[in-house]
Amino acid sequence: MEKEFHSFGWYASKIKPHLPKKAFKPVPARLLGGLAYLLVSLTGMFAIGLYDLPLLANIVIAFAIGASFAAMGFLGHEILHGTVVRKAWLRDLLGAVFFFPLLTGPKLWRKWHNMTHHVHTQNEEKDPDAWLSTEKLDKNPALKVIYRLPLSMRAFLEFLSLSVTFTLHSTRMFFVYVKEFKPKKQLSVWVQFLLPWAAWTGLLFFVGFTSWVFLFLIPLLIANAIVMGYISTNHRLNPHVPVNDPLANSLSVTVPKWVDVLHFNFSYHTEHHIFPSMSSKYYPLVKKHIKNNWPERYHEMPMSNALKALWNTPRVYYNGVELIDPEAELVYGSLGNGLDHESIEPRPMNEKEKKIN
Ligand SMILES: [Zn+2]
Ligand SMILES: [Zn+2]
Repeated sequence: MEKEFHSFGWYASKIKPHLPKKAFKPVPARLLGGLAYLLVSLTGMFAIGLYDLPLLANIVIAFAIGASFAAMGFLGHEILHGTVVRKAWLRDLLGAVFFFPLLTGPKLWRKWHNMTHHVHTQNEEKDPDAWLSTEKLDKNPALKVIYRLPLSMRAFLEFLSLSVTFTLHSTRMFFVYVKEFKPKKQLSVWVQFLLPWAAWTGLLFFVGFTSWVFLFLIPLLIANAIVMGYISTNHRLNPHVPVNDPLANSLSVTVPKWVDVLHFNFSYHTEHHIFPSMSSKYYPLVKKHIKNNWPERYHEMPMSNALKALWNTPRVYYNGVELIDPEAELVYGSLGNGLDHESIEPRPMNEKEKKIN
């Protein structure tokens, strides 16, 4: 079946005439939410650092700080797309503040996320966030060992690793991209990378190990898990695509309304890929237009279903549109290519496929 793809610009041009002008203006009021998260984080950190609190109190506060770190990351993402303030220096400064807990600098983020992930989404070679294919797996003996484990074991490890993946991936991205900056800019990219690491490790010597675990380390793991909970569902159930078509290569998840409020509508990922420079405040409106125009192309499911589908499918792309479990010799569909999240049924590999793999 030949599929027709359209670029994100094509969708944007069809929807744009139906949107109000204000939807294309920055929304600085988003910063009030950010300020609230900053206050929660700082209050919690002072409480843990200054007082000898009971263990349970430390755990509860650590969760509150972690949830705030994650939400600040979502806001940092918006800010660095220029949807909160327009001035470049202020955008980068605020982006640095809100990404500080996640140890990511604004210049690196804009290069990795805005200029690469958004431009080349789900392009196997060019998207730094795209998951690997069988060809890549074959060249990586260390990974092959992991893929020899049964699917449920791999899923368990994959979900466990969500609590560190953002920070690990971000660190890897730094070393991939820092060389691509002009020599003049490289110094500031290095400073933006080292400053958060230095500050957070330096804090360890001020507050002592136990307090530090509760006021930074556990919150960092929680924040990683929350942001990766979304990020892992954004594209990993979708196929690799020859054209950057957000309706084919992205998934919008749905969460309860209050969660959308807390997370600045981060669940609207397909909408975000069509209008990355629009405040997420207006994404519910964009969603309406998408569902009116292209209901059969749009992928949307509750977050819990997306996570279940993620658990139940392997993470190796096969021919771009299927997911393969080389060990069990089973092939699964991707979104728009046979994946039915209500009943995930793989097909067995045929003889020819077995020979190749
Ligand atoms: Zn994305
Ligand atoms: Zn983005």
